[in-house]
Amino acid sequence: MKTTGLHHITAVTKDLQTNIDFYQQVLGQRLVKTTVNFDDPGAYHLYYGDYTGDPGTAMTFFGWLNTVPGKVGSGETQAVAYSIPQHSVSYWNAHLKQMGFSPARVESRFGQDVIPFDDPEGMHMELVAEENLPAVEAWPVSPVPEEHELHGFYGVSLWLDEIESTTRILSEILGYQQVGQEGNRYRFRVPGDAPGKVVDLVHKPNSGRGVFGASSIHHIAFRTSSGEHQQEIQQQVRKIGIHATQVIDRQYFRSVYFRTPGGVLFEIATDQPGFTVNESASELGSQLVLPPWYETRRDEIEAHLPPIRRSLPQEENA
Ligand code: ZN
Repeated sequence: MKTTGLHHITAVTKDLQTNIDFYQQVLGQRLVKTTVNFDDPGAYHLYYGDYTGDPGTAMTFFGWLNTVPGKVGSGETQAVAYSIPQHSVSYWNAHLKQMGFSPARVESRFGQDVIPFDDPEGMHMELVAEENLPAVEAWPVSPVPEEHELHGFYGVSLWLDEIESTTRILSEILGYQQVGQEGNRYRFRVPGDAPGKVVDLVHKPNSGRGVFGASSIHHIAFRTSSGEHQQEIQQQVRKIGIHATQVIDRQYFRSVYFRTPGGVLFEIATDQPGFTVNESASELGSQLVLPPWYETRRDEIEAHLPPIRRSLPQEENA
């Protein structure tokens, strides 16, 4: 029944170009897919990750340009953490400052250095210095030197009024083990060395809901290696009385969604087929790709989307 960790994380941006520039130029992540929200084709859906956007590296954004600025609160993902090499803490501190960001003082959490900072729209992010880094596929033209690059997600922190129900889902259905507690932060982890192994539950009773909008994290997705495993999880979720959707074709993965009693929307996403299903690895993200069922509406869809530009050349031009 175990997942190997996070598959992707999806958030909201109201400023597409700033978002692209930040992920590419500041974080050195590759834009691996330019498509639309399959449930709202008037909005972009952008995916960033390592060279091929492997599971555990994929950060995605819905471009909802008319939304209000978000403010995180109870029942949401509070922060997204990426792994960095242990020798890279001073590089990242200096790099973030040089690019106009204000990282907070380096914290020590469970014995690891953590650099907290906010992205351009205020989404809380953390860089966690890790000894045993998960493997990722480097993006050859990344402005971040390979020795300092992000190694996919470290994990997420969920801000919760009560942690019992989410603890149960993580440990009884998704295969996480509680491995530590510091103050009101409860750490869960899956075994193995894939990226995105950690989920922290941050217990803040009666702390109030946030404002959903730009910078809010819409959902977090966990990996599954097969459709059978995905169905097992779906059945287990239903068995404890939580509504889980049917399997939905997201073209790059197949998904089942359920909202945890704590308020956070979870997704179970298959590793296959991945982002190279309709573009070669070297072309990933270079143009707007639509799922087959929207191709007949391409002209109408393109006419409504604002122009965006990748801020770095693709490697074939580099
Ligand atoms: Zn998703």
